[in-house]
Amino acid sequence: MTTSSNSCDVVVLGGGPAGSSIATILSEKGWHVEVWEKEPHPRFHIGESLLPHTLPYLKKLGVLEEVESIGLQKFGAELVSPYHDESVTLFFSGAMDKFHPYAYQVRRSEFDNILLQNCKKKGAQVHEGFEAKSVDFSDPNLAVIYGKNAQGMTVNRQARYVVDATGRQTFLANQLHAKRRNLHHNSASVFGHFEGVIRHLGKDEGNLTICWFEHGWFWIIPLPDGVTSVGMVCWPSYLKSRKGNLEEFFWQTVHGSLPMLDRMKKAKAIMPIEATGNYSYQSSVMMGSQFMLVGDAFAFMDPILSSGVHLALHSGIRGAEVVDAYLQGHADAEQKARDFETAVKHGLETYSWFIYRITQPAFRNLAMAPRNFFRMHEAISSVLSGDVFGATPVKFPIFLFKGFYYLMAMLDLKANLVQYRRRKHAVEGEPVAS
Ligand SMILES: Cc1cc2nc3c(=O)[nH]c(=O)nc-3n(C[C@H](O)[C@H](O)[C@H](O)COP(=O)(O)OP(=O)(O)OC[C@H]3O[C@@H](n4cnc5c(N)ncnc54)[C@H](O)[C@@H]3O)c2cc1C
Repeated sequence: MTTSSNSCDVVVLGGGPAGSSIATILSEKGWHVEVWEKEPHPRFHIGESLLPHTLPYLKKLGVLEEVESIGLQKFGAELVSPYHDESVTLFFSGAMDKFHPYAYQVRRSEFDNILLQNCKKKGAQVHEGFEAKSVDFSDPNLAVIYGKNAQGMTVNRQARYVVDATGRQTFLANQLHAKRRNLHHNSASVFGHFEGVIRHLGKDEGNLTICWFEHGWFWIIPLPDGVTSVGMVCWPSYLKSRKGNLEEFFWQTVHGSLPMLDRMKKAKAIMPIEATGNYSYQSSVMMGSQFMLVGDAFAFMDPILSSGVHLALHSGIRGAEVVDAYLQGHADAEQKARDFETAVKHGLETYSWFIYRITQPAFRNLAMAPRNFFRMHEAISSVLSGDVFGATPVKFPIFLFKGFYYLMAMLDLKANLVQYRRRKHAVEGEPVAS
């Protein structure tokens, strides 16, 4: 461990789920860890829906009970399609592994604060209001991180290892010129928190709702205390086509969808409506002997499968083992790093196949009429539960599902080709004909 007052073993940039989790595990292992977080917590963050297989990560970090106390239980995801007569709910209990039948919906300000306070408790030094500006890697043994504190004064620290967990700010990927736009996907989002959104009753109250519309899909995420997170994800060109302000645009789109209007007739926004655009990317570099990118700082695709926090915690917790091996000078550090990179990319690739096809008619038809031939439905529910890194045998049924999807697309070639072309134009940034 390092001892100088201006140096430490690891500086973690960003105190979201990825940063807090890697800082927690490395502190538990006895390393001197500092976390630099730009915004004092608690702070607003979008992305409130967790997955069942995230709960074991929370248990490992020691925060599961606290998270349970602020969350609303979620047993499944309801799918609503304007092209089908009835909605369908996919329950996590229908997954192959029956031991994880629920997750939670959480206010991210509270959830992220629990994780950040936890890494403090485990020994990390957390500097809220510290914003990283640059890192000098010219000394191969000691990186120097430069930034600003909450008072605007310049700060710097030397560290043997730097973890970038700055989320969609992608601090290191920008510095290394490694950020690459995802050539297969592109979307934008408009969202807010609301009161008065109609909820389902009983056990279904906390379920996520996904509702397709012509230019994308909406989410409805019920939070505790009657507040609901609602947002739409659409092609960037649809967002650019708006005439009025964001709020008017959001409500116009809600009014264009009968099922959404039914749920939001009496809803009122309790925060200004926000938007984020063009947000699918991946860094061409994940790590080196002095740095690692975790969570959204490495890649982000799309929120539809609620996989962001799950992937962030997975990379934080597993990434800590790699950083530990580098710091200890273990001979197998490079091998651990390669295994880690493969696992992270496997998670992203598993989700991306579904994300790229979710607005295709063939996909929608399959999702709205789930069948368990060869355990396909169980395997899809497993992916939706976040069971993508374990030993559950999802591979073969998912392979069959993909084959089935292509068959369905062939059988309705015209509709699927039209949508495929619209999507392609949208990804390439061209105006999309309706
Ligand atoms: C519209 C939308 C909806 C989403 N919905 C969901 C959902 O329902 N479920 C889900 O699981 N995921 C969802 N996500 C994704 C999810 O929010 C992210 O994947 C997740 O927050 C990633 O965690 P992270 O720790 O990598 O990054 P973040 O949570 O973004 O944390 C990064 C932290 O770094 C700090 N920071 C940034 N720059 C600097 C700097 N220079 N110096 C110091 N600190 C810095 C930021 O202040 C922030 O606190 C959604 C994303 C979007 C865009």
